[in-house]
Amino acid sequence: MNQPYLKPLPRKQPENAPLWEGLARREFRVPRCDDCGAWNWTPYPACRNCLSENLTWTKINGNGALFTYTAVHRGLGAFHADVPYVVGLVEMELSGGPRAVIVLGDIVGVPHEDLRIGMPLKMIFKDIPDEDVTLWEFTGREG
Ligand SMILES: [Zn+2]
Repeated sequence: MNQPYLKPLPRKQPENAPLWEGLARREFRVPRCDDCGAWNWTPYPACRNCLSENLTWTKINGNGALFTYTAVHRGLGAFHADVPYVVGLVEMELSGGPRAVIVLGDIVGVPHEDLRIGMPLKMIFKDIPDEDVTLWEFTGREG
């Protein structure tokens, strides 16, 4: 029997439903502007580049490079059981648009001493038992 999941869970809303539906299918979707092509992460009701409201949730490939990270040694609440763990910002591989897409996530499966800024990472997916929620994490990949 699974332990109950005690960490905070995301609030699913109509506005972000495409994100959660995509994650359940092992896809990471980012709103892309139909008018100027800019990627808009984190999601927002209008394009940050041109203010268009014509956005399309678009699957991206999940590959990126470590932008920065921190190791957490004192976790609050249910996170305490995981210490030490690493939270990072990962710059996703994308073409076009004036802004990088930088995604926050746990970095797993890489010894902390092996982490390097710029190292290649890939997104992986984690189903939360009994919660109908899929979250993402990052782990190492060959360059
Ligand atoms: Zn735009």
